[in-house]
Amino acid sequence: MSYYDYIMIGSGIAGLYIALLAIERGSVLILTKGSIDDCNTKYAQGGIAAAIGKGDSPESHFKDTMAVGGGLCDAEAVRILVNEAAECITDLIGLGVPFDTLNGEITLTREAAHSVPRIVHAGGDATGEHIEVTLSRQVRSSPIEVLEHCLASEILVEDDKVKGVKALDCRAGTTQEYSCRFLILATGGLGRLFKYTTNSDVVTGDGIALASEAGAEICDMEFFQFHPTVLRLPGVAPFLITEAVRGEGGILINVEGHRFMPDYVAEAELAPRDIVARSIVYEMKKTHSDRVFLDVTHLPSRLVTTHFPRIYRFCRQHGLDITKGLIPVAPAAHYLMGGVSVNECGETNISGLFAAGETACTRVHGANRLASNSLLESVVFGKRVVERTQMIAQAAIMASAAVQSRKCPPEEELQARSQVSEGLYFLPERETISSAPPLNLPNLQSLMWDKVGIIRSGESLSEAAAILATWQRLLPQPIDRPSSELNNLMLCGRIMAEAALLREESRGAHFRTDFPQTLPEWQRRIVLREDHGAK
Ligand SMILES: Cc1cc2nc3c(=O)[nH]c(=O)nc-3n(C[C@H](O)[C@H](O)[C@H](O)COP(=O)(O)OP(=O)(O)OC[C@H]3O[C@@H](n4cnc5c(N)ncnc54)[C@H](O)[C@@H]3O)c2cc1C
Repeated sequence: MSYYDYIMIGSGIAGLYIALLAIERGSVLILTKGSIDDCNTKYAQGGIAAAIGKGDSPESHFKDTMAVGGGLCDAEAVRILVNEAAECITDLIGLGVPFDTLNGEITLTREAAHSVPRIVHAGGDATGEHIEVTLSRQVRSSPIEVLEHCLASEILVEDDKVKGVKALDCRAGTTQEYSCRFLILATGGLGRLFKYTTNSDVVTGDGIALASEAGAEICDMEFFQFHPTVLRLPGVAPFLITEAVRGEGGILINVEGHRFMPDYVAEAELAPRDIVARSIVYEMKKTHSDRVFLDVTHLPSRLVTTHFPRIYRFCRQHGLDITKGLIPVAPAAHYLMGGVSVNECGETNISGLFAAGETACTRVHGANRLASNSLLESVVFGKRVVERTQMIAQAAIMASAAVQSRKCPPEEELQARSQVSEGLYFLPERETISSAPPLNLPNLQSLMWDKVGIIRSGESLSEAAAILATWQRLLPQPIDRPSSELNNLMLCGRIMAEAALLREESRGAHFRTDFPQTLPEWQRRIVLREDHGAK
């Protein structure tokens, strides 16, 4: 079995950035189930939030993040996020990411719910693509080993310690085990769980499912963000129209030509995503339409074409000149706030197992994510993963050299886990039903969209949870990438439905018609764990 100091699962911003830092400290293998650039990162448009502009401060970024998170952001984690942002932007520049500048200064845009312009971007709205291309080029010219089309299928754990990972070569159909000291899950979110989604087809919740099966704690899974404005053109794949378009003055109108956002909330189009998404759903219902429109025709054409070249080009290719015509949009699944529960250094409750990027729950987003905080979270906490592994490695060396030397961190500190213990539940057993529709990916995606989507109720969630439990029991052992992904999505869907059922209130992105209020007794997290009979 090949051995590495670090194995990274995934090659988005989290996996690549951590790999580039880790290679300074030991051998590194990246396993990725598609090509290196198959990921969500390359689709990111708006950019990365960082308080580096004049008149901005980490304190202001902190306040904006906390305000959007529905009372569930972890203040300590958010402080880390905003305070360490500037350093990580400098690191990315050092790695060659070509952020946009004017007269030698980084240019910043504003996005919804940010109180000042704070979004660092590259190539206008092509930020993610520039990051992915730059980091993967750096990885290719380093000693990091990369295995493409290689799907991690099981985390190998012995005596509560990670030993390595089992992986499927998707092209040869063979499996192999790789051992390591530190295993880092950087597998992204689970956006493919829903019928309408902005996410890449590799984003199927694999890291969360594998971690859960290995005994890791999973938290905040009921909080999933739906992006309000995704292109809805017949026959065209959903394409995200970034928040920054509304930040620059784009307005939303319904099919009857009425600007509706001021009817719902004072911030109008600049309100947090969940409010805009729900308002759009209500307008679509009211007007019996499957879309509303985003209007930028009143903005200078040059502003539109230079700030949003990718969106402009994409729409043009599909016969729509957005400087002259309305953009048809509707909400779609976008971002998971929850995930594998980690402490402020990316550690899970299993020794040697780390998670970073969208697959991790660092608790910075709470019940709702502030736009452009997720690329930032990937790099800030990604860097901390590597720093933590270095501490662990150094402490081990010192411990073996001088067992009682008080120079190394005390054992209790090494073992410290800032896991949230409140609200820890085992994943419940659930009755199966005989009336479940046939099991396949489109049916799973429709079920999640209809019953566990933007607007939920106890009835819709119970129905979904029962069907998911039934399907889960019928699932055969996975043999290839599609069947592995279906298994993983199914498990993540179940965890999400169960968590949403438990949370009998509405908060942030989680909205229930039977419990529309936010309740003080629910200002706590739901942490779920499969019952392996371990504790
Ligand atoms: C359209 C769009 C626009 C966005 N815009 C922004 C933005 O402007 N600003 C912002 O901050 N955020 C934005 N986001 C969110 C942000 O892009 C993601 O949260 C972030 O890129 C996640 O990075 P990641 O490295 O965690 O995961 P990803 O970039 O999704 O990468 C996951 C990787 O894991 C691999 N993988 C998954 N499962 C396995 C497995 N079993 N075995 C091996 N490999 C596996 C995948 O192949 C992939 O390489 C946007 C997201 C989308 C979809």
